Amino acid sequence: MKSTLRRTWAEIDLDALENNYYKLKQRVHTKFLGVVKADAYGHGAIQVSQKLAQLGADYLAVSSIDEAMELRENGIEMPILILGHTPKEQVDNLIKYHLTQTITCKAKAIEYEEVLKDTNKRLKVHIKVDTGMSRLGYLCDDEGFDNGVEGIYEVCCFDNLDVEGIFTHFAMSDDDSDKAKAYTKHQFDLFQRVCTEVEKKWDQSFKIKHCANTGAVANYPETYLDMVRPGLLLYGYGEYAQDLGLLPVMSLKTAISTIKIYPKGTSISYGGTYVTDKTTRVGVMPIGYADGFQRILSNKCTLMTEDGPARQIGRICMDMSMIDLTDCPNVDINSEIEIFGKHNSIDELAQIAQTIPYELTCSVSKRVPRKYIENNQIIDEELLLRFPR
Ligand SMILES: *Cc1c(COP(=O)(O)O)cnc(C)c1O
Repeated sequence: MKSTLRRTWAEIDLDALENNYYKLKQRVHTKFLGVVKADAYGHGAIQVSQKLAQLGADYLAVSSIDEAMELRENGIEMPILILGHTPKEQVDNLIKYHLTQTITCKAKAIEYEEVLKDTNKRLKVHIKVDTGMSRLGYLCDDEGFDNGVEGIYEVCCFDNLDVEGIFTHFAMSDDDSDKAKAYTKHQFDLFQRVCTEVEKKWDQSFKIKHCANTGAVANYPETYLDMVRPGLLLYGYGEYAQDLGLLPVMSLKTAISTIKIYPKGTSISYGGTYVTDKTTRVGVMPIGYADGFQRILSNKCTLMTEDGPARQIGRICMDMSMIDLTDCPNVDINSEIEIFGKHNSIDELAQIAQTIPYELTCSVSKRVPRKYIENNQIIDEELLLRFPR
């Protein structure tokens, strides 16, 4: 579905994605898993996955079976790892769609094995180890070590589970404090000890051991093992992106819909949080918090115009927001404004909003059409609103 009006849109630069993939591949000489959960962090999982497939990536990861089936139904044939839990009622679909399921604990492994026993079907799985994220996975620390290793070994011996890989997730790999470095090192050492112990008992090696998320790809080359697993870096954001030569993939843009000149002393938008201190040329932009322009940014950020940065003023509303164009004489009705992207850093905006760039791209909502750009041309445009099927 195409969008009919020029309102607010997100440009997804597939050339930037290609640049980022190649830059990361220069650094990392292992298999490459691209994390495309949450609709590829808001960029569009189908288009991003198609591009990654074309570039030769090895694996994709999503959070749920629904996200995985969406990719399969749209022709993506690469291996896909589901990072979250899948109910046992869905095991048939896991097999039918050739999906790789994460095994996070004994109870789940037994459920899958019971569904599959007495069939000749085998479910491909990766085992998750909880080395300190304290979320999903087999606990293997301290007194739990032997127990954890034994539990993982049991799964390796199940007839109907095909254990291809094992992984863990770092909690602080993107933090360069001494405490975080020690924590990450502890997580990695523990993960390696677990792998070694299980492989000894099992008398086989895991084909794919992986743990490096964005922070680890940037900071800890020793953790690359058989495969890396970045999300954020692929999309070109975060404090490491620039040094690594990565480019932001998404640009969120809008176009000025109305311009008015207000005298000094005029209150702008809900609550009158901004009062003009001079004659002010105010532009109205058809973008608000329902599009993903966070209300917490009200009166706090500058946006990029063709005449340089301009201040957002007044409360950001659900569907609209205002900008001070007094010093931007060339900006007129229909002029493009970049909320974030190549000329207005999402990382700075995220900091002002007291959040992380992940949250800003993930919250670009479904009414914002995505325009996909390749070789400087729009090759695809998609609006995610529901229409009768
Ligand atoms: C989301 C996620 C990643 C990717 O994290 P980034 O910080 O975006 O690189 C990697 N592994 C797991 C298990 C995840 O949930």
